[in-house]
Amino acid sequence: MLLLIWCYLPIILIAWNFFLIKKKRTSILYEFERGWFCHSCKEEFDLEIDKKVSSIFGEKRPSLCLSCSRTRKFFNLKYSFLKFRWIVQDYIIFNFKKITYFFVIPVFVLIALHTILLLFGVKTLLPWFYGGINLLFWGLFTWRNYYTTTKKPSDII
Ligand SMILES: [Zn+2]
Repeated sequence: MLLLIWCYLPIILIAWNFFLIKKKRTSILYEFERGWFCHSCKEEFDLEIDKKVSSIFGEKRPSLCLSCSRTRKFFNLKYSFLKFRWIVQDYIIFNFKKITYFFVIPVFVLIALHTILLLFGVKTLLPWFYGGINLLFWGLFTWRNYYTTTKKPSDII
């Protein structure tokens, strides 16, 4: 019974992503990828200031605004664990397709293995593993959805 709940937990996250977030929020991933919005504070670039900064740091287009890049540099000096968090966050925002393969392939392999073992009457703990991987994947998906969406203009007071 506990295993069943564990394996069906991602459904809550999926429902959250596809019904609640899509209704209340709008995606700004296109703007991130084109370099129109800062992917940390989700604000439109002030091109006068931010383009100058990006040309100093040798970037093709600004991905972080002046304020966010300054904040990150400051907090990187103070708390080293935040550097890792930001690297993960940026990677999840821009390279999510690559991450998908790392999760989807193991889940399918484990499910296939589990099915084959069940046919031979062998009970294993494999559902805990692929349930966990599945849950982790949808957790990351939710995290990414939060960072790549913003409140719809009508909901901003
Ligand atoms: Zn910013």
